[in-house]
Amino acid sequence: MSKRAGIVVTGTEVLTGRVVDRNGPWCSEQLRALGVDHESTVVVGDRPADILAALRWLAAEGCSLIITSGGLGPTADDLTATVVGEFQNRPMVLDEPLHGRITAILERLTARWPSVDQVSIAAGNLKQATIPEGATILEPVGTAPGLVVPPLGDEGPTVVVLPGPPSELVPMWAAAAQTAPFIAATEGRAAIEQSMVRLFGIPESEIAATLRAASAAGIDIDALEITTCLRRGEIEIVTRYAPDQRALYDDFVRFVADSHAETLFSTDGSTIDEQLAALLNGPPLRTIALAESCTGGLVAARLTERPGASTYLKGGLVVYSNEAKTKLAGVPEQLIELHGAVSEEVAVALAEGARASLDADVGVGVTGIAGPGGGSDQKPVGLVWCAVSLGDGEQAVRKLQLPGSRQVIRDRTTTVVLHMVTRLLSGKEQ
Ligand code: ATP
Ligand code: MG
Repeated sequence: MSKRAGIVVTGTEVLTGRVVDRNGPWCSEQLRALGVDHESTVVVGDRPADILAALRWLAAEGCSLIITSGGLGPTADDLTATVVGEFQNRPMVLDEPLHGRITAILERLTARWPSVDQVSIAAGNLKQATIPEGATILEPVGTAPGLVVPPLGDEGPTVVVLPGPPSELVPMWAAAAQTAPFIAATEGRAAIEQSMVRLFGIPESEIAATLRAASAAGIDIDALEITTCLRRGEIEIVTRYAPDQRALYDDFVRFVADSHAETLFSTDGSTIDEQLAALLNGPPLRTIALAESCTGGLVAARLTERPGASTYLKGGLVVYSNEAKTKLAGVPEQLIELHGAVSEEVAVALAEGARASLDADVGVGVTGIAGPGGGSDQKPVGLVWCAVSLGDGEQAVRKLQLPGSRQVIRDRTTTVVLHMVTRLLSGKEQ
């Protein structure tokens, strides 16, 4: 039977949400890639009793490997190594060679800070070189060593102790995974594949129906671990399976593709952002320009998240007021008076105005009511008009009625726009 792993993320800043946990998800993905079943992540503050309780709970759950992150620094509130020593019944001992290596690192670091308090530096150094007896040392990336601490007897989990800063934890992982106690604690692990397909423009309930239909059609979906997740207006189906189930997974994906030909847009893990960037890059290269009202530049921001965007993105106009729509994007004043700023006509005029003013191949116009105020019976909050224009009359227009908060409405609109442009450029139906 494959053994299971747990993760303990420590740090009051992570517990309270001031720092978003990056170590738990990252370690989880590494464990999956190694074929180790990750059962839980526990987040605890910087209190020794809570860290100990988390370790004991995961051990009682049957974890043979526990990863901890954080609390390895030189200060008195960094207590993870001591707690793990207590958990494994291993006394804390000063490791002289490690002490020497940390001293050398500190000498290099403190050369730049001549006024630092040498007494507290020395105390911190001693603390970081004091480790549970019998632990394997993972060489410091910063000043803190990581540790692999096996159980004293045959029973109980091996604990891998890693530092909190992701820039230190990540480079230490490979060394940790190569240690003998880590390998022993994950004995019997089996590789697990993970693949993802993405769909846009259907409700999650339809995917549930498709899964039932696939099962009825004789595809043994119980042999696959399938999870669906709604993210930024798209549905992601993530499937985990043993490598020898590849053919079954391919059957499953074919079934989903046949059932949702119009809405399935990615089977290779690619995002809509990547697909659109590839289309614009060409050949032929196509440049794009934007005129955004309610999204206030979010579409431009999303396009510029990708390196190399300067090849195809000419620029974006943030045209929040009617005056800006007229002066910057050339939308006729009368058009706004006649139809209102949030209208199909103005969205199209924005797209054409953006394209014309920046001499681009593709123009995008977005205008809507993101709320929470400003809605009316005819034009409620969440109403957004999006237009894409390629010139020579080729265009796409969509009216959206989006639920959710101001933030969700604005964010969702950016996803819709990326899909509209991608579909128009690849000759697909909107
Ligand atoms: P240090 O020597 O820097 O004190 P440490 O091992 O004691 O290292 P922590 O004190 O727990 O680590 O965390 C130091 C900093 O690292 C945090 O303030 C935070 O910025 C970052 N950090 C810690 N844990 C996480 C985490 N789970 N996800 C993202 N960042 C983290
Ligand atoms: Mg610390």
